Amino acid sequence: SDADANSAAEPNTLRTPIVAVLGHVDHGKTTLLDKIRGSAVSEGEAGAITQHIGATAVPLETVSEMAGSLVDPSDFDLPGLLFIDTPGHHSFTTLRSRGGALADIAIVVVDVNDGFQPQTIEALDILKRTGTPFVVAANKIDTTPGWNPHEGAPIQQTYEKQSQNASQRLDSNLYEIIGNLSDEGFSADLYWRVQNFQKNVGVVPISAITSEGIPDLLAVLMGLSQRYMKEQMEIDVAGPGAGTVLEVKDERGFGTTLDVVLYDGTIAEDDTVVVGGMDGPIVTDVRALLQPRPNAEIRTEKRFNKVDSVTAASGIKIAAPDLELAMAGAPIRVVRDRELDDVIAEVEAELAEIEVDTEEEGVVVKADTLGSLEAMANALKEAEVPVLRAEVGDIAPRDVAIASTAREDEHKVILGFNVDVLPNAKKELDENDVRLFDDDVIYQLIEDYEEFVEERKRAQQETVLDKIVRPCRFRILEDHVFRQSSPAVVGVEILSGTLKNNTHIAKWEGNEPKRVGQLSGIQQQGEDVSKARAGKRVSVAIDGPTVGRQIEEGDELWVQLPEKHAKILEQELSDDIPADELEALTGYLDKHRQRDPFWGK
Ligand code: GDP
Repeated sequence: SDADANSAAEPNTLRTPIVAVLGHVDHGKTTLLDKIRGSAVSEGEAGAITQHIGATAVPLETVSEMAGSLVDPSDFDLPGLLFIDTPGHHSFTTLRSRGGALADIAIVVVDVNDGFQPQTIEALDILKRTGTPFVVAANKIDTTPGWNPHEGAPIQQTYEKQSQNASQRLDSNLYEIIGNLSDEGFSADLYWRVQNFQKNVGVVPISAITSEGIPDLLAVLMGLSQRYMKEQMEIDVAGPGAGTVLEVKDERGFGTTLDVVLYDGTIAEDDTVVVGGMDGPIVTDVRALLQPRPNAEIRTEKRFNKVDSVTAASGIKIAAPDLELAMAGAPIRVVRDRELDDVIAEVEAELAEIEVDTEEEGVVVKADTLGSLEAMANALKEAEVPVLRAEVGDIAPRDVAIASTAREDEHKVILGFNVDVLPNAKKELDENDVRLFDDDVIYQLIEDYEEFVEERKRAQQETVLDKIVRPCRFRILEDHVFRQSSPAVVGVEILSGTLKNNTHIAKWEGNEPKRVGQLSGIQQQGEDVSKARAGKRVSVAIDGPTVGRQIEEGDELWVQLPEKHAKILEQELSDDIPADELEALTGYLDKHRQRDPFWGK
């Protein structure tokens, strides 16, 4: 195999900080990474860049060339920066390393015109939770109306040369971003005003197209890493490797492979490794370590170069047997001269840390990585949504079968984050009445689900309210007896609630409701109606009683409530009925409970 791709790097005990680029879709993450890669290549001679699996390494000399006067290499002893650049893999934010976030430092890209968007806020939430330091790249400054671009210039230089109008417009957009950061609980300022980057977030205005401000961004990243992360970067280079699985992929000629970011030690061909899998730790031997072939060599059939070993920090593809059940986001450890059982226990402990609490009733959750699964679980816990099962991977028929066993309809649901529905699971979803919610923004996903639950509740209550007998109190008016009996027809005033036809009517005798008959007609101003509201005077026909015997002019009458209905009204629907009806209900319950305190409870 070819020479070690990393052996050209400094034999330093300080590793490269791992940088993640995050932000809302279309705000310029890919363009920024391409620009950093592209200019690194064209600046070229020094160390150039090394293309890794899922990452790009930019050595210190190249950073310094790109940053011009802003980075003097003699001020630094970190070897450069490793940018994670797996496209579209915004959930790598949630990837972990031992005890923390996989990324040592992050860039949150925000479009200066578009400002904060859902994925911006989600990225900030995750960075906050994992305590990852970050800078904000306020991108696309070149789109400011009247902007006069200065290719590759540091921000102060180009800013000074702008018209007052253009710089004012940019300022106002930048202050809006600073304000938004403060709303999210971060004290922030333009980076050159920030003294302590541990306390304050620096905002760096940039353009990923004209490269303006990119020197500043690189200088801030290097400075921040050197100043606050040097100790964390001290590693035992020769020690057994530790990393995080970025992706599990089938690769022609190699079977199932792992794309891994190694953040500690060394991994070599033939090393025994322990990887987190769906059914627990997997123990296997490395068959090949693969790096992408530089573009120039792509004419060859082979897309990868084999290497003997790699040292942190780096991105590497690992081919080995038995990787089918490995999980994206899981830990991977080289065993080397340690006890295998100890390493297995270590991996188990890390997996347990991420394990989601599940209950006997709840929804099914699927996510693309362990980290995003954990982020989902946290968000669901906060939203008080119970989880029946939570797993990494695409949505399979088995998931649908499990979701369909939920008792409550609102739990016959699969919440999918950044995953696909396998073809044979699509049909199952329809057949089993299992609802699927999927999104690549966690809080959007949960909001959609909560809306669905609310909507269902509303619809249910409406049907329940329709079927349930509703309380009503009314009074027979003096001089309004139109017929004595069979049926009795009298004028009444509705005091509270809604009077509905066909309901049973009662009259209280002491604390005893005595049924006097059933309503068989309501007339309002000569018209037949099915119901009438509080405040109205109507004439009603009552089957059963005779005026002067069971009922009298001036009597207060009530619609008789079945105990079960009274209970549902009080316990579940009291927020949904009008105040006057609630008053009738309370009056009715009070009377009953003087006799039987537990009536309707
Ligand atoms: P991503 O979804 O965050 O990776 O965003 P992309 O990098 O794909 O950028 C989205 C669009 O914005 C593309 O059309 C880019 O060309 C454009 N874009 C990105 N950065 C800039 C910039 O600094 N200035 C201008 N004018 N356009 C940009």
